[in-house]
This record gives sequence, C-alpha cells and structure tokens, in this order.
Amino acid sequence: MAITQEPKVKSFETRLFINGKFVEASDGGKFELKSPATGEKFVKVSEATEDDTNAAVAAAKAAFPSWSELSPADRGAYFKKLAKLIRESHDELAELEALSMGRPVSAYFESYVAAESLDHYAEAGYDALGTSSLNTPGFVNITMRQPYGVVGAIIPWNVPVLFLIGKSAPALIAGNTVVVKSSEKAPLTSAKIATLIDKAGFPPGVINILSGHGHISGNVMSHHMDIRVLSFTGSGRTGRIIQAAAAKSNLKNSSAANPPAIIFPDANIEKAVEQTKFSMQFNTGQVCMANSRIYVHESIAEKFIESFKKSFADLKSGDPLLPTTQQGPQADELQYKQVHAYIEEAKKVGKLAMGGEPSQHQNGFFVPPTVFLETAEDTKPMKEEIFGPVVHINTFRDEDEVVAKANDTEYGLYAAVYTKDVSRALRMAKKLDSGSVGVNCTSPTGAKDMPFGGYKASGTGREGWTVSINNYLETKSVLISVDDE
Ligand code: NAD
Repeated sequence: MAITQEPKVKSFETRLFINGKFVEASDGGKFELKSPATGEKFVKVSEATEDDTNAAVAAAKAAFPSWSELSPADRGAYFKKLAKLIRESHDELAELEALSMGRPVSAYFESYVAAESLDHYAEAGYDALGTSSLNTPGFVNITMRQPYGVVGAIIPWNVPVLFLIGKSAPALIAGNTVVVKSSEKAPLTSAKIATLIDKAGFPPGVINILSGHGHISGNVMSHHMDIRVLSFTGSGRTGRIIQAAAAKSNLKNSSAANPPAIIFPDANIEKAVEQTKFSMQFNTGQVCMANSRIYVHESIAEKFIESFKKSFADLKSGDPLLPTTQQGPQADELQYKQVHAYIEEAKKVGKLAMGGEPSQHQNGFFVPPTVFLETAEDTKPMKEEIFGPVVHINTFRDEDEVVAKANDTEYGLYAAVYTKDVSRALRMAKKLDSGSVGVNCTSPTGAKDMPFGGYKASGTGREGWTVSINNYLETKSVLISVDDE
C-alpha cells in the first residue's frame, strides 16, 4: 500500500527525557520504526540503556522530596497546563500513532481522554485522606496516606497516551515521582508528551520518559530497588515476568483477554450487530477488551450473522493518515504474523465465513475482517487473545450453557450481554467471571469513574478515577497513647 496522505508532522522527538532534559541513549543506541501501512522504515528512536534507566530512577528519587512537599493544588497546576497542551496537540498525536502503529487518525481519541483525566486529577489530590480511630482505650489512633516515592510505569502500544497519563497522573498527584517506559512499537506519542511536560514546566526529574525494549530498560525497572511501585499493562506473559522480577515490589496490572459478547433473542439485534462489530473494528481488534467471541442464541443466529458479516465487510481499510479510513494495518509485522497464525489454526477447528485470506493491500500489515463460525470451544483460537480483526461467532441454547462457555477461559476482563429482560441481564452480570460487564453495550464502552481491571489472569488491581490514587499511597498507622490528666 502507498501512503496517499502527506503527514503534517515533519520531525519527531526520539530522545529520552531524563531529569528535565532530552538526551540520546548513553551508548548512542537506537531502534528503527517501520510504518505498518507500508512496511518501510521511517525513523530511529533512542534505546534506553541500563545506565539511562538508572539515571531516570535516580532523577525521580532526587525530585521526590520537594515534589511530595507541594500541596495537591500546586501539583495540580502543572496538570492543567499539560492538559491544555495535549488538547492543542491532538492532530499531531493522532498522526504519530497512525505512523507508528497504524491507528487511523479518524479513530484517535486518546488526547481528549488524557486531558480530561489530567483535569480530573488536578482537583483530586485532596481526596487522599487518612482515618482516625478511638476504638483502643487510652489511644487516639490515626492513619496517614503517604506517597511511596518513585513509581515505575511500563505501558503497551495499543493506547499509549491513555496509559501514560492514566498511570502517571494519579501517581504524581499523590506526591510520587515517575519513570515511564513506552512500548518499542509506539514510542513517538510518549516522546511528544515529554516535550509537552517540559513546556508545562514540571520540575526536573518529577516525570521521566524512556523509550526502548522490555528486556533492556523494562527489565532494569522491574528489578530496581528504588522503584517502590511498578504499574504495568501489557500481555499476561510479560506480566508474569515482571511479577516474578518485582516480587519484592507490590503492584502489577497485567491484562490480556478474549471477551465474550452474548446475544439473547429479545435483544435489539441491529444495535448488537453494530456495537459488537465496532468492538472488533476499533484499533483493528488490537484492544484487550475487543469481543472476539460472540455467542448468539440459535433462534436468531442466521439473522445476526448475516448482518454482522455485511457490516464488518463494509469497513474502509487503507492509509491510516486519511480521515476516511476506518481500518488500519496491524501494529507491526510480529502482530500481523501472530494474527495470521491464529487464522490458520482457526481454519482447522472452525468454519471460515469471511476474510481469512491475504489482504487486498500488497504492502503493509493489513488483515481483512475475518469471521469464523462454529469454532470448537476447547481450542487455542477460542481460548487465547488474538488481538486482530478476527471474531468467532458460536451459538447457544440456554443461559447455563452460555455462561459455562463464556467463563471457560483463563481471562476475565470484559463481557457483554444483550437482552431487554432486566432480571436476565443482572443474573448474567452476576454469573460472568469478568471485571466489567456491559449490558446492552460492549467494549470499548467504559466509564471513567468505574474501576477497570480483570478477573483471573486478566490482571490484578483496578484502575480508574475513583481508585487509582489509592494505588499510589502507602497507609501508615500512628498509635498515640494519650496520658490521663
Ligand atoms: P507486551 O507485554 O508485549 O509489552 C508491554 C510492555 O512491557 C512494553 O512496554 C514492553 O516493552 C514491556 N516489556 C516486554 N518485556 C518486558 C520485560 N521482560 N520486562 C519488562 N518490561 C517488558 O504487551 P503489548 O504487546 O505492548 O500490549 C498488548 C497486550 O496488552 C495485550 O495482551 C492486551 O490485552 C494488553 N492490554 C491490556 C489492557 C487493559 O487495560 N487490560 C489495555 C491495553 C493492552
């Protein structure tokens, strides 16, 4: 495929942001980014070394005492400036993500959510309160909530700005300082955000942003004794490696998933088709909550499947820089190959009903919208996360059967139920092993003030406006013996 739209971005920030300065990697090392739309190399980005990672942690540690002494309002003032700069940079951030991981500019929304989150956290620091207890005779006991110190954040490539801000903002407003490692597949928006952090005037070292691979800087971070909390989002495989390395640390949010959407005969079928299709189309299926398994009641299966296929096939795929493009390429060659391997596997255990063949675009890592029917339940394509525009549509007869099938996976991040029967919806919500359940809606529907995270191997902990600050605060019990008069 040829890029038909000339990008407006002419130069890229590709350096590391350590202690308030942009620097090349200490050994001059760089890694190359390829455009997933054309397969061509287009920029080289600094690869943080062990020394660079240690320098970023040292800078964050040095910045901690004075940052944590500021009032939440004073910390929040920087957030408001950064939110404004991020909003102003929307178009550039959208292009950077289109160029590095193929997200169509038409589907870029992260700048708005990130800015809104910063505005929210700018005001939320005063929520960090301790408690008091008079339950021990002779004592007035209190708890204090205090920041940990240096927080590490290791983020994935699929919605990088959301994770960069979603992890950093609550940690920072609680008084911690932060080191973020972006994903080697999508480092450009994080580096751009670093330039905005610089413009917003954050004190040096309060937030440091590294680019590079997991086995180098990520590995140093997950073993680092001065990183007191490590917040990670990515694959279950990496989550396990980090959890093992960070056994002495105390936080990990790893999540992968293969979410089910369940369609009952009384559902609004048109709405269910459009929304379950959008869930698979959005970010080309590279979303941890994409409903890659759809269970439709056998009495409406034919009608549902026909309209789903039609709607899924209608997607306009191509140059992610074009505002009319709905479906871009997979993020890189590795993702593309993984998705194709799942497709080949699924051909052996299910019926290919649409797609599954090489895409019409000769270059670039495009996968056509693909639908399988009647895929055998106990197989890899049903049990694992595909992370591409590939959906399995199976049928069911009754509630017990579909709950058993939906829950029979090691994951549990998001499930969806379509029905007009309120009792059935709530019964299903209770029975599904999932951190979030959508009723008459599916992913990516979310709510900023609801905790987000997974059951089972889809993660530990929850994130969201009402819970995240707590993830970054220690609790100290202070026992005060009060003398009699
Ligand atoms: P990944 O696990 O390959 O990488 C995530 C991050 O970990 C990257 O920054 C990577 O460089 C780093 N990393 C890799 N190996 C490491 C190591 N040994 N030590 C330390 N860091 C290491 O995941 P990905 O491919 O970037 O992202 C896709 C995955 O993320 C999917 O499985 C998806 O389900 C999951 N995800 C979950 C959510 C959620 O909120 N639940 C959101 C987005 C993505």
